[in-house]
Amino acid sequence: MDEIDLSRRMGSLSESATLALNARAQQLAADGKTIYNLTAGELASDTPEYIQEAVAKVLNKNKYTPVAGLPELREAIAANARSFYGLDWIQAKNVVVTAGAKPALYATFLATLNPGDEVIVPTPTWNTYNHVIELVGAQVIEVPMTETFDLDVAAIVANISSRTKAILLNSPHNPTGTVFSKAALDKLAGAIMGKGLLVVADDIYAKLVYADDFSLVPTHNFEQMVIVNGFSKSQALTGWRIGYVIANQNVAAAITSLLSHITSNAPLPSQYAALAALARGDVPPQSTMDTLKKQRAMVADALSNIPGLVYREPGGAFYAFLDVRGLTDSSAQWCEDLLNESGVALVPGEAFSAPGFARLSFVAKEETLKSALTLIRQFATKGNKA
Ligand code: PLP
Repeated sequence: MDEIDLSRRMGSLSESATLALNARAQQLAADGKTIYNLTAGELASDTPEYIQEAVAKVLNKNKYTPVAGLPELREAIAANARSFYGLDWIQAKNVVVTAGAKPALYATFLATLNPGDEVIVPTPTWNTYNHVIELVGAQVIEVPMTETFDLDVAAIVANISSRTKAILLNSPHNPTGTVFSKAALDKLAGAIMGKGLLVVADDIYAKLVYADDFSLVPTHNFEQMVIVNGFSKSQALTGWRIGYVIANQNVAAAITSLLSHITSNAPLPSQYAALAALARGDVPPQSTMDTLKKQRAMVADALSNIPGLVYREPGGAFYAFLDVRGLTDSSAQWCEDLLNESGVALVPGEAFSAPGFARLSFVAKEETLKSALTLIRQFATKGNKA
């Protein structure tokens, strides 16, 4: 068969680096190599029992739902978000249920960005944002965060131009695990007040926070905001593909029209899974939080005092973003060598517009994490600056 020309818009698109690395680590394991895979962006636990039980009761249901989701689910998402964020404006009409948070993001950008618009994205950044923003013809303006991975508000403001349409904020943050400070978010809200800028808040990790005192993006005084969220991380439902957008009614309606021609409704069993999760407040199972806290402490113990490696304790999500600039001139090479020599797979910072770093996901099974940390320690302490 003859090769088919791809569209020009496929030009700069490549497969998600994280998913590709995960696949490579799985392939090496299938080939018989012992691999400690710390690349995954998903919890190691199974579907929570209460979700399995709830969905088992509705397996006979098989029809399309309204594109924006089951009315009772939209109500439940709105009620949960109203109390979680303390935002009265969120009603069912503002909610569109989607097949995961990724389509929610894509639909948001398609519905709000024109070609030539600019979106400010703090770096390090999750690479999907860049691909999807560019796919809709808009331009990413990367703005580095501070050394401690907080928002650099002055730098963001300095990069606002007449073409700026939106600022993307993800907190807790992938890949750094940082939770942006209340001070920085307040300062940003004040600085962009009256400028007509849209804040897209990717809150997919908002239920996975370790500190008692934290501040989430939507609780700040942003005049225009779209919230993207889902159940992939809070309920270990990555494969079930269930997320949502919360937005002004006009944006929600536009996204609904769009999705009516793309996915139609999100998978029906997954909508019931979300309803079951929301009946318990969409709070992650206690066992999940206990495991995450324990494993976060294991990472801190193993990696806190290695000369040349800087470990910053994550405030949320399940990633540690290791600063390996003191160990190597190329984090991509460092991760490659670590994989080949020790069998430990991390994602190099290059995949997050942050060379010099490596993302470690600490959601692996405890034994895997323990062995991997010992191996990383050994590898990092043997002084292999390139
Ligand atoms: N947003 C961030 C920051 C993520 O890290 C991920 C998944 O890794 C997603 C969104 C996508 O979530 P979903 O699996 O629901 O599409």
